[in-house]
This record gives sequence, structure tokens and C-alpha cells, in this order.
Amino acid sequence: MNVPSHVTQLLKALRTAGFTACPVGGCVRDSLLGRRPSDWDLCTDARPQQVKACLSPRWRTVDTGIAHGTVTVLTRGGPVEVTTFRVETGYTDHRRPDGVRFVADLKEDLARRDFTVNAMALDEEGIVDPFGGRADLEAKVIRCVGEPAARFEEDALRILRALRFAACLDFAIEPATLAAARAAAPTLSRVSAERVFTELDKLLLGRGAGRVLAECGDILARVIPAVGPCLGFDLHSPRHDRDLWGHIARAVSVAPARREVRWALLLHDLAKPECFVLDAKGFGHAPGHAARGAALAREVLTELKAPGSLVRAVEPLVRWHDTPMPQDVAGARRWLGRWGWPMLRDMAAVKRADLQAHASTPVIRRRMEETARFERLAAQAQRRGDCVRLNQLALKGSDLMDAGVCGPGPRLGRLLSAALEEVIEGRVNNDRADLLAWAGTQKR
Ligand code: ATP
Ligand code: MG
Repeated sequence: MNVPSHVTQLLKALRTAGFTACPVGGCVRDSLLGRRPSDWDLCTDARPQQVKACLSPRWRTVDTGIAHGTVTVLTRGGPVEVTTFRVETGYTDHRRPDGVRFVADLKEDLARRDFTVNAMALDEEGIVDPFGGRADLEAKVIRCVGEPAARFEEDALRILRALRFAACLDFAIEPATLAAARAAAPTLSRVSAERVFTELDKLLLGRGAGRVLAECGDILARVIPAVGPCLGFDLHSPRHDRDLWGHIARAVSVAPARREVRWALLLHDLAKPECFVLDAKGFGHAPGHAARGAALAREVLTELKAPGSLVRAVEPLVRWHDTPMPQDVAGARRWLGRWGWPMLRDMAAVKRADLQAHASTPVIRRRMEETARFERLAAQAQRRGDCVRLNQLALKGSDLMDAGVCGPGPRLGRLLSAALEEVIEGRVNNDRADLLAWAGTQKR
């Protein structure tokens, strides 16, 4: 295993002082999977004060959670958390232990961890794996350490962590673990909005996100109530070969793994049940669901305390997901001017994923072609640097005033906007002389 030198140095310092110390948890799991761990956590039988005494003055430490046994060590390779072997006691709030007790034995510490794949350590002899984590990694399974119902009962966050790891590692959730997660789902109300958001955010970007969503809609509905009515909802449409939730999960799974795009797809159709009507032929429609869905998306994300930047990006992606995209250069330029290229790219990605999650009918195939054509036109305009905004126009207000075409005032602004429109439509070149000549022909 490739333990980086900033970590081996800490291990050596602790071991030389006579303590046990080993990498544990996510870093062991990721290393065995051949992935680069995002961070290295260590566990040790040294008490926090002993850890500090042993490592100083060579390393600076931060008292992250001394009472819980955690000291953060600042190394050249980044911060490393060193936590004393511990067991946790009394989860009366379904979320946090009432207390922790330090223990001498690594195995006891591993036993308090959530899933077998997260309950391995690397000691001087090799992998310490008392719960079959390696076998579960091979089998691609998320399984609780110990009795699943008890583990979810202790800490409801583990329910979302199970879904998140299943999505990110693209693993299945072992049936007894999944059944217990399902049964414990009502306790999710105890998990803070910020924690829910963080887990969902990671889950959505996972390779297995669509599969996990499809399988665990009922659990999701506990943290996003608007999901509930979508489960099993029949859209009564030849364009859909799945129920509404199946459609949403599929759309997420075929989308590129970009945060805004995946969130928008999760939320894009949540307003369909409330906007739903059947026509005289028995076909389903949901007029206004995009606008209502945009408002709902904002509500959901705000409730989850998502970052404002995400809310601001997702809202229009949902609002516009059902609007036909322009099929001519001028239209593509107008959208580019309004939204900018990164947003347009996301809009097209949302649209494509949404369409791909439909039945392949002639109408759907035509819309796919339209989306592709729009993307092509917009990408070309972007690459060429076409003028799509006033600040790209070769004509400034001062040019119009200097040439005596127009004085300051509202007409100046109107003239510049009209000039931009001429350029976007391709009727006048984005050239100062051409634009001044054009302006001269405009009525006062
Ligand atoms: P990553 O950092 O890649 O998200 P990780 O496995 O390192 O994954 P962390 O949240 O950093 O996850 O937690 C580190 C370790 O602590 C986990 O591997 C697990 O052993 C344990 N752990 C974390 N949260 C819980 C929890 N709620 N219940 C039980 N054990 C937990
Ligand atoms: Mg970690």
C-alpha cells in the first residue's frame, strides 16, 4: 500500500514512542480499491495529550476534538487526523453519541465504524479486517458492521452514508443493511439539513447515483418530501416507459457528473404530480411544471441549506428544462448573451439527459436532434467570439454622442440595444463604422 511519507513519518514517531498507530477507514478502503485517498486518518492507543506530546515540537497540532480523541496534525502533506481508539456510548438522539470512552484495542475501535469496507486498518503486519471488509470490497457490497438495525438506530446519518457510498463506489447495499436503512428512515428527521445536503451532494455525483435513487426513492422522500408523490407515479404518456421517479433516476444516471446538472435533474420534474392533468384521450400533461418546479427546487435547496451559488444555477436549469431551444444562429447567440457558455452547456446537458430518460419515440428523437443542433450553434458562436452582449459591441454610447447621432438619455440605451440586435441577427457587422452608419439611418 502506498502510504505517503508525511503519514509514515507520523506513524514512525508514534510507534517509536511505544504506541500503536495505523491508517484507518476511508484511506485503507480507497487504497485497496486502487484509488487515491482524499485524506489519511490515523488511529492510535495514545491519548490526545500523549499524541501531542509525542509529536511536538516537530509538528504543529490543532485540538479538533480532544474530548472525542481527535487531534489534527499539520504536516507538509496536509492535515492528518489522529484519533484515539474509542467506543461510543448512548445515542439517545439518533445522531450523536452521548459520550465516548477510550479503549486500548484497535478491534473495539473498528467495531464502532459504520460499514465493513470502512472498518479496516493497516498495522505493521498488514490489513486488520475483523468484519470482512475486504471480501465486501471484492463483492462490491455496503454492509453494516454488526447488527444493521442497531447501527442505524444509533446514528441516522449512516442511512444516507450507506446510499452515498453505494452511489460513489458503485456498490450494492447488502439486503439486510438496506432493509434496516429503510425501516430506520423516519429517524432521518434528526439529521441536520447541512449533513443531509453534504451526503446527497456526494451521492448525486457518484457513478451509481441513478441506480441508488431508483432503489431508494422512499428513503429520499424522507429528506425531500416532494419526492414522495413521484414514486410509482404513472405519467400516462407513450413518451415515458418508466414511472416519474424512475424517469428522474434514469435522467440523473445518464447525465454528466456535474453538480448543478445532477441536482437540476433530481429536482426537474418534482412538480409534475401537482401540475398533472389527463386530456380527453387519457394522455397525461403537466402544464406549468417547469416554472413550479423551479420554485420548488429553490425551496428544497434552501431548506437543505445548499450554497446560494448552487441554488442560483439550478433554478434556471429547472425553469428552462422544458423550453424548446432555438434552432438558428441568432437565437443561439441570444441565449448565449443571456446565460453565458457554462450555463448553456449545463442547460443542454440537462435537456439531453431528460430526453434520454424518455421512451425513444419520433418526437423525443427529434428533440434530441434539436438539442444537439442548438449546442453546435452555441458552441460555434462561443468559439468564434460572436458579439452577443452589449459589452462586446464595437459601438459605445460615447461613439454615438461624439458623432452627434444621439445625446445622453434613454434613447441612447435603446439605440445600443437595437444595434446589438442587428449584429446578433447578422444584418450589420460588429464594426464601429458600419454600426455608426446604421445608427445614422435610425429615426429620431
Ligand atoms: P470520505 O472521506 O472519502 O468521504 P471516509 O470513509 O473517510 O470517506 P469519513 O466521513 O471521513 O469517511 O469518516 C472516516 C471514517 O470514520 C469512516 O471510514 C468510518 O470508519 C468512520 N465513520 C465516519 N462517520 C461515521 C458514522 N456516522 N458512523 C460510524 N462510523 C463513521
Ligand atoms: Mg475521510
